[in-house]
Amino acid sequence: MSIKCDKCKHDSIIYQRYSGMHLCKKHFMEDVERKIKLTIRKHYSVRKNETIAVAVSGGKDSSVMLYMLHKILGARPDIRLIALSVDEGIAGYRHNTLEQAKGLTSRLGVEHIILSFREQYERTMDEIASLEREKGTCSYCGVLRKSILNRKALELGATKLAIGHNLDDEAQTIMMNHLKGDVARMVRLVPPCELEGLVLRIKPLRYIPEKEVAMYAYLNGLPLSTGACPYAHEAMRNEVREMLDDFEDKHPGTKYSLLSGFDKIANVLSREIPIAKLASCRLCGQACSSELCQACKLLGKQ
Ligand code: SF4
Repeated sequence: MSIKCDKCKHDSIIYQRYSGMHLCKKHFMEDVERKIKLTIRKHYSVRKNETIAVAVSGGKDSSVMLYMLHKILGARPDIRLIALSVDEGIAGYRHNTLEQAKGLTSRLGVEHIILSFREQYERTMDEIASLEREKGTCSYCGVLRKSILNRKALELGATKLAIGHNLDDEAQTIMMNHLKGDVARMVRLVPPCELEGLVLRIKPLRYIPEKEVAMYAYLNGLPLSTGACPYAHEAMRNEVREMLDDFEDKHPGTKYSLLSGFDKIANVLSREIPIAKLASCRLCGQACSSELCQACKLLGKQ
């Protein structure tokens, strides 16, 4: 016999172990959308006449985010949504996701700009990965992508830059910062963290578990499967992911607890440890905390 939704008489499609609720398709979708709207209202209120840049890789997270932002804000004539995708130059991986991003932006009628490492940095991620390096591939990729997105968002006059981090990503980041003892980075995670020279990063999916993002994407015909990046296995994040998944399995709600606990101490943290005022990179002009930005340092510029 099928299990019924706890809110109506329809068959349930998901059991949320952390909430103890069985939900049908309609109530599951409502739950996801309610959490996203609440996150935007609570942390990142959208004012009149804003331009919002949306980082869209073409994977499930950024696709759900763009779909939802378009659903919530698409009818407002004073709001301009612009999708930004980055082609890092990873053979056999990025091409597929970019095609998915193109398909979704054209389906929604959202302006779409594709940026590339090759154009911006004169080298691809594959070329960087083949060199002798001090850090893991993902460290280079993450810093360079962040920099290129911020640069373009500033150029477009965007007041917000939306990033598709889900609950799992946020919980992993908090745990990684704890493990590294990186308190300064934790302070910058406090939403909304406004820093001069950096477009405000917003994370509308930060309260949605990754599995639910995937299910929401599936139910709405959004891109789902992207294949794996050939460098993904290098990331320390994978070890933290496994650890948190194991905890979540044994103690449902662990990821939510980690995030809500962090949010509660976040304001105290930012009062005690004020964020350092940013300077401009001597070489590229991007906002940074020292003479050279991380991107220029990693690229070996002097
Ligand atoms: Fe870049 Fe690492 Fe993500 Fe691959 S897994 S796209 S190298 S950050």
